[in-house]
Amino acid sequence: MPSAAMAPSAIRKPQRVMARRSSRPATVATRSYLFNRSVRSTPYRIKRASAQTLHFENGWNVLDASGGAAVTGIGHLSTRVEQVMIKTLKRGIAYISSMMFDTDVAEDFARFLITTTDGKMTRAVFYSSGTEANEAAYKVALQYHATEKANPEPTRTLFIARDRSYHGTTLGALDMSGHKARRELYERVLPHNTHHISPCYAYRGLQTGESVAEYVTRLKNELEQKIQDLGPKNVAAFICEPVVGAALGCVPAEAGYLAAMREVCDRYGILLIFDEVMCGMGRTGYLHAWQKEGVAPDIQTVGKGLAGGFQQLSAMLVSPKVNDAFEYGPGSGAFSHGHTFQNYPLACAAGLEVQKIIQEENLLQNVKEKGFRLSKSLKKRLSNHRHVGDIRGAGLFWGIEFVKDKQTMEPFPADMKINWRIYEKGLAPPYEIHVYPGMGTADGVNGDHIILSPSYNITDTEIDAIVDRVARLIEDYFDTLD
Ligand code: PLP
Repeated sequence: MPSAAMAPSAIRKPQRVMARRSSRPATVATRSYLFNRSVRSTPYRIKRASAQTLHFENGWNVLDASGGAAVTGIGHLSTRVEQVMIKTLKRGIAYISSMMFDTDVAEDFARFLITTTDGKMTRAVFYSSGTEANEAAYKVALQYHATEKANPEPTRTLFIARDRSYHGTTLGALDMSGHKARRELYERVLPHNTHHISPCYAYRGLQTGESVAEYVTRLKNELEQKIQDLGPKNVAAFICEPVVGAALGCVPAEAGYLAAMREVCDRYGILLIFDEVMCGMGRTGYLHAWQKEGVAPDIQTVGKGLAGGFQQLSAMLVSPKVNDAFEYGPGSGAFSHGHTFQNYPLACAAGLEVQKIIQEENLLQNVKEKGFRLSKSLKKRLSNHRHVGDIRGAGLFWGIEFVKDKQTMEPFPADMKINWRIYEKGLAPPYEIHVYPGMGTADGVNGDHIILSPSYNITDTEIDAIVDRVARLIEDYFDTLD
C-alpha cells in the first residue's frame, strides 16, 4: 500500500504494550562500533519500523511523534518510493557524476521543486544535508556580491543571523548559527563573519504592553541598526528560519516579521536567506513556510523532509536575481563550490516520488487539519500545567517549552537536561512515544523544550494517541520531579 498511515487499530493502548513487553532490559548494553555511540548514555537499537512506529530490539513499539528529527512526511515505509528507487538502481544511474553530466531524475526533481515556488525561485541544486545546503548558501552569497553582479561589491563578506539559531555543523554554517552550546568548542576557529541579532520569539521577546506590530518594528530596527554598525556595504546576507525548529522549539515568525526583514534587506542590497531545512517541504501546512505570508527569499535551503528520510537529501534554491547574476553577470558564471554526490540521482528519484505522494494524497491539507487537532488537544491538556510555559507551532510542527516557574518564565538549570530526560522516559513503556528533544531555548544552553512533528499522513486516532501519551509523560515526569 502506498505510504499508508498506520490503521487506527494498530495503535495499542500502553497497558497492552506493557503486557506484551519483552523481558529484556530497557537499555541495550552491547558494544557499538559506531563512533561516538558508546560514550552516550543509552544507544537504543531499532530493529525495523512500520508506517508510524519504531520497533526496538528490546521489544518496545514506539509511536514516532517526531518523524525522526522532523524528517518523515509519509511514514517510514512506502512501496512507491521503494519501486522508484529500485528502478533507478536498475537503470544503473544511482550515481552519475553531476560535475560532468545531468540526469533526467535530478532535472525532473529540480523542475518540480521550482514549479512549487510561485515563480519566486528559478534554479535548484541538491546536496545531502541541511548543513551542506546552508554552507552553499553562505558561499553563493559571497560569490554573488564579489564577482557575479554587474557592480561587484567584494566588501560584502559579513552575515547577520539570529541569537539561538542553528543552521548546521560545518564551520560556515556554524558561524551563521547563534547557538552558544553548539558553537562553544569551535569558537576559536570559526570565521566570525556572522553577527547576531534577536530572534522573533514572542514568548520571551515581546515586552509587556507591546503589540505584535510594535515588536516587529523593534526587531526590524535592530536589523537596520546592526547593518549600520557593520557598514551597509559590508553585509552580504541575512539568514533566518521562517519557523524556528530545533533551536527554539517550533517558533513561527510573528505576522509581518518576514516582510519587514525583506524590506530592510532590499533597501541595503543584502540577500535574504531562508533556512527551511526543518520547517520546509510541507511541515507547516505550506510546501514552503514562506508561502504563508508570500514573502520569498533570494536563497532558500530545504532538507530533512525533502526526501522524507528515504534518502539523505537537501537543496539550495535561488531566485532569478541570484541566478541571473551567475548566468549573465561579469564573473565566471560557475558557482565555485561542488560535491561529488551533489544532484545524486537515487536520492532525487526518492525525493521526487515522496513529493508526488504528498501532492497526490493532498497531504498538506492533512497537515493543516491534523495540526489543528494536535495543537487544540495539546493546549487543552497541557496549557495549565505548572511547568508548561508555552505551546506554539504551525502545521504538524509543535513545540512545548518547559519552565521552572510559569510566572517568571525562568527555565530549568541546563544540567537537569529536562528535554533529554523527557525524551528518554517517553521511549519506554508505558508511554512508548518518540518526541524530539530539540536543542534548548532560553540561552542556547538550557534544554527545555520538546518537538512534536509526526508524518503528514498521520490519522486522527494517532494524533489522539500522541497527545494522550505526551500529556501523561509530561505529567508523570514532573510529578516525580517536584
Ligand atoms: N538548519 C536547520 C534549521 C536545522 O534544523 C538543521 C538540522 O537540524 C540544519 C540546518 C542542519 O541540517 P543537517 O543536520 O541535515 O546537516
